[in-house]
Amino acid sequence: MIPAQFDYHAPRSLDEAIALLRQHDGAKVLAGGQSLIPAMRFRLAQPEVLIDINGIKNLSGIAKKGKYIEVGALARHAQVEHSDVIAKHAPLIALAMPHIGHPAIRNRGTFGGSIAFADPAAELPACLLALGGEIDIAGPRGKRKVNADAFFKGLFETALRPQEMITAVRIPAADKTTRVGFAELARRHGDYAIVGLAASARGNAKGLADVRLAYFGVGNTPVRAKKAEAALAAGDVDAAVKALDLDPHDDVQATAKTKKHLAGVLLRRVAKQLMEARG
Ligand SMILES: Cc1cc2nc3c(=O)[nH]c(=O)nc-3n(C[C@H](O)[C@H](O)[C@H](O)COP(=O)(O)OP(=O)(O)OC[C@H]3O[C@@H](n4cnc5c(N)ncnc54)[C@H](O)[C@@H]3O)c2cc1C
Repeated sequence: MIPAQFDYHAPRSLDEAIALLRQHDGAKVLAGGQSLIPAMRFRLAQPEVLIDINGIKNLSGIAKKGKYIEVGALARHAQVEHSDVIAKHAPLIALAMPHIGHPAIRNRGTFGGSIAFADPAAELPACLLALGGEIDIAGPRGKRKVNADAFFKGLFETALRPQEMITAVRIPAADKTTRVGFAELARRHGDYAIVGLAASARGNAKGLADVRLAYFGVGNTPVRAKKAEAALAAGDVDAAVKALDLDPHDDVQATAKTKKHLAGVLLRRVAKQLMEARG
């Protein structure tokens, strides 16, 4: 199918993009187009106005800024995947990137687009949640930051208000104590996960602290398994699996019961990564 008719704008600056968003109610931002364009072709989305942000400069950098790694909203998945800064300072993101679709998708898809789209089975929203990252947002009322814990509100629903856009994402830079783990089960490599788990923690002489387990593919948003986090911090993997406080529902990929079982399998794998390896 071809998309419904729409008007197209290609702003060259952030201010121009925000002005256009204010001017056109219900306009959609177009980034990599890897989710929006298929939705428009199926007529699941019929925006009357598209605001293509690809021509805005300074939205695609990846840099260490103090204790954070800042990833511009327009950084392509492939750029993130091959970034030395990410490899060195954001090892969880480096582990997750090769699982996002396939190279053609990663060449166009953007970090900001994935966070804004908030697919509950996507890797990056869960990674951001596991890392306790922040989202930088710009809109007609100025700029604001939202923590990942408060950003993912519901199925494809986020804290973004109409007329706002993501400009960057900030991730705490890894240090000597950082441990990370990542695993997902998909039918084929590159498919959306049936269930996935992104995790971070701090390793110390006693074991793990500050454990954050963020599952994807098990609910309407990426979901933290807080009871399991506490059990894992206490060093008990069996108790963590037992305590898994998830409530997945059946979907086209698997039943809720299967997903719950797979979540336990992934937890054992990721616990091993957290306990054995420095990320
Ligand atoms: C075949 C296929 C397989 C895929 N497999 C995976 C996978 O395994 N895992 C995965 O995570 N993803 C997968 N994707 C999706 C891919 O990662 C997308 O790139 C991503 O979800 C959206 O990024 P985008 O830049 O393409 O955004 P777009 O498609 O341009 O936009 C998506 C949505 O986000 C909004 N948006 C985009 N950027 C911004 C911004 N800066 N501020 C505010 N709103 C914004 C748009 O308005 C739109 O609503 C797949 C896609 C395809 C087609």
